[in-house]
Amino acid sequence: MNSVMVKMKPDSLILRQYLDNLFEGAYAVDMNRRIVYWNTAAEKITGFSADEVLGSCCADNILQHVNGSGVSLCRHDCPLAQTIRDGQNREVEVFLHHKLGHRLPVRVRTSILRDEQGGIVGALELFNERMGRESLQRRVRDLEKMAYLDPLTGLANRRYIEAALDQRFHEVRRFGWSFGFIMADVDHFKEINDRYGHEMGDRMLQMVGRTLSSSSRPYDIIGRWGGEEFVGLLLHLDEVTLTEIAQRLRIMVQNSFLILDGEKLSVTLSMGCTLARSDDSVKKILQRADRLLYRCKNGGRNCVVIG
Ligand code: GH3
Ligand code: MG
Ligand code: MG
Repeated sequence: MNSVMVKMKPDSLILRQYLDNLFEGAYAVDMNRRIVYWNTAAEKITGFSADEVLGSCCADNILQHVNGSGVSLCRHDCPLAQTIRDGQNREVEVFLHHKLGHRLPVRVRTSILRDEQGGIVGALELFNERMGRESLQRRVRDLEKMAYLDPLTGLANRRYIEAALDQRFHEVRRFGWSFGFIMADVDHFKEINDRYGHEMGDRMLQMVGRTLSSSSRPYDIIGRWGGEEFVGLLLHLDEVTLTEIAQRLRIMVQNSFLILDGEKLSVTLSMGCTLARSDDSVKKILQRADRLLYRCKNGGRNCVVIG
């Protein structure tokens, strides 16, 4: 049993049991910053066993904390030493030295240890591993991408479009800002797959997706609804502009092609287009766009129907 804990009687045993079972790493130093306690989690996190560190001085320095710029904190800016000096608790993010040599990002909390008379006898440090902020942000971005992007085309997926539609309808109801919606379906796409294979079909879908997004305005959203269906969510326009944009997209797709064995392969789109109305819902606008698309198909395909 170390001196700090002995001095902290009668609570020391309870405190020690509590610290022993903590998921956080915990260690205590005396007034000379000699390590007098080292819990199991500290062993796990740092790779150093209690035997290796007890009795040594933390400034000597085992963990060799550095800040995010690589500056050593042991000599000048040691959070434990500062806490012993001014009695203030601290919370800092540092990188400690793992026994295997690498740097480990940890969040450190320090607090003062007192004896029964209230005199300062040392300080306690609790620490746990934190994921580097950048890698966390990167991971979140990757997850968002996976959740909202169509993997084949890199366009917004159906889930994203549904959420965006919902958001736009708030604006329609609140501010009266309408928007345009396009439901587009590749004509006779099954023939592309049947004749040239599924992989060529995939390449064709990628090409259509790229043509649609590069021919639309920067603030419009083009998405893949699923299969060979694409959608467009277009802002700040009236029916005339919606028709012009839809026609432009249709013509651009018609004029895009892949080359296979010297042969030009292209597809066309049928498009149902409509403006959002004040009494619309996501379901209603989707059904209307779908009906209009159906009229294109019946009318011979490769055309735009507005309604
Ligand atoms: P229509 O003009 O009436 O729309 O005819 P269509 O052949 O395009 O319509 P249909 O619904 O009969 O066929 C759609 C085809 O799209 C069938 C399906 O195999 C293909 N398809 C759906 N998703 C993918 C995909 O991710 N990759 C490929 N290569 N094909 C796909
Ligand atoms: Mg279809
Ligand atoms: Mg089709």
